[in-house]
Amino acid sequence: MDKLKIAIQKSGRLSEKSLELLRECGIKISKGSQTLKTNSSNFPIEVLFLRDDDIPQYVEQNVADIGILGENEVWEKNRKVETIRKLGFGNCRLSLAIPKDENYTGISYFNNKKVATSYPKILSEFCAENNLYVEIEEISGSVEIAPSIGLAHGIFDIVSTGSTLLMNGLKEVETVTKSEAILIKSENLSHEKQKILEKLLFRIQAVIYSRENKYILLNAPNTAISAIIEVLPGMKSPTVLPLAKEGWSSIHSVIKEDEFWDIIDRLKNLGAESILVVPIEKMIL
Ligand code: ATP
Ligand code: MG
Repeated sequence: MDKLKIAIQKSGRLSEKSLELLRECGIKISKGSQTLKTNSSNFPIEVLFLRDDDIPQYVEQNVADIGILGENEVWEKNRKVETIRKLGFGNCRLSLAIPKDENYTGISYFNNKKVATSYPKILSEFCAENNLYVEIEEISGSVEIAPSIGLAHGIFDIVSTGSTLLMNGLKEVETVTKSEAILIKSENLSHEKQKILEKLLFRIQAVIYSRENKYILLNAPNTAISAIIEVLPGMKSPTVLPLAKEGWSSIHSVIKEDEFWDIIDRLKNLGAESILVVPIEKMIL
């Protein structure tokens, strides 16, 4: 039987999270520190461990069928690959930064300046859209030190917390775009591989959904049920079960992780008691 070949980052910021996602999908993968390729023992998949920069090329050329990498690499490399879905990790932004003591006057600050980056294509597109003339100095790493060693006036790089910029005496002045990890696929997958991919996607969907949602149970007086249901949209509609205590019910539903605290406050104000919030192991819609 054919195996679906998936390329993930060998070692770096996306490696662990990519493996974790596959493992949460029930796919067994054993990896040593030197492993470059391995087969799963319980799913028709072969994992290739590569540098993230090379993944778009390998997927375009069908060396790998699918891949997990940052959107930023896909934009930069401009290879013919299809984006399947965002994966909800590896979030970062691509920003312009300058030495912290410089007086930033707005985007035209960069006109006729030198900017160091590992993402020349994304930067040149941004400059073209904003009618900026910028001299782009392409370097492959340690971009943050470029201004202090006199290579460039500013940098264009990936930022997540901004602490690396601060440590290097820089300040972020423009966010050009945001990126997160995505799943890409080759444009020519065989029918058989497409079927395996669909099976994998079904599992990924369930894993990501369960990460983003929580199961909530609470008790409330029957008089408050309709107001509480307004606050709890649930999957379709919340479950309401009578309690042994006269005039009270138990309400069960699913809420989004990022709306959690806001919803809890509103539920308490409506008279909800004994609120229990539990993680969802898997959720199939
Ligand atoms: P490789 O050796 O595979 O080429 P790399 O050094 O290019 O690795 P990493 O620094 O491991 O790459 O980053 C991989 C991806 O993680 C980035 O392309 C980006 O999409 C994402 N990412 C998220 N947050 C950050 C961050 N703070 N710094 C760098 N990358 C980040
Ligand atoms: Mg890289």
